Amino acid sequence: MFIGHLPAGYIISALLRPRLQWAGTQGTRFLFAGMLGAVAPDFDMLYFHLVDHRQHHHHTYFIHFPLFWFGLSLAAGVWLLSGRKQCHAALAFIFTLNGLAHMVLDSIVGDIWWLAPFVNQRFSLFTVPALYKPWWLNFILHWSFALELAVVGFAVYLWRRPLQSAGCGLAGAQK
Ligand SMILES: [Zn+2]
Repeated sequence: MFIGHLPAGYIISALLRPRLQWAGTQGTRFLFAGMLGAVAPDFDMLYFHLVDHRQHHHHTYFIHFPLFWFGLSLAAGVWLLSGRKQCHAALAFIFTLNGLAHMVLDSIVGDIWWLAPFVNQRFSLFTVPALYKPWWLNFILHWSFALELAVVGFAVYLWRRPLQSAGCGLAGAQK
C-alpha cells in the first residue's frame, strides 16, 4: 500500500470508536493513536536507509511481522478487557490493531512474511509489474491504486461527518 495506510487507520479507528465508547474512546487521542499505529510499521524505512543501507527488504524486519502485531494486539485486547486503565488500554489496542491492519494492507500488492520468524515464506495477493521508472509510477498506474483512492475518499467522508461528544481525557475537540 502506497498512500492508503493513514486514511485506513482513520477509518478503522473512527468506526471502532463508538463501539469502544465504554472504554472512554471518544476523544481525538483514540484517532491519533490509531493513525499512528497504521503507519508505525513503515518507520523501519529509517533503519532500512540509514542503518541497513538497503541491504534487506524492509518487510523482513520484525516490525513488519504480522505475528509481532498480532501478539501486541492480543495483549492490548486482554488489557482492555481486564478493566484496568481502560482509556490507556483502548489507545494501546487501537494502535496495535492498526499495526496489524497495516500487515493486511501491505499484503495486497507487497510481500509480507505472514509466519515469520518461523517460516521464511513471503505472501502477496497481487504483483505490481515493474514496467515504469521511477519505481513508484508502477504503483500509481496499477489498478490497486484505485483501491487506495477509494480508501482516501471513504476516510474523508467519515472525517466530514458530524461527531459526538469528547472523552478519553480530551474534552471538546473531535477531529
Ligand atoms: Zn509497510
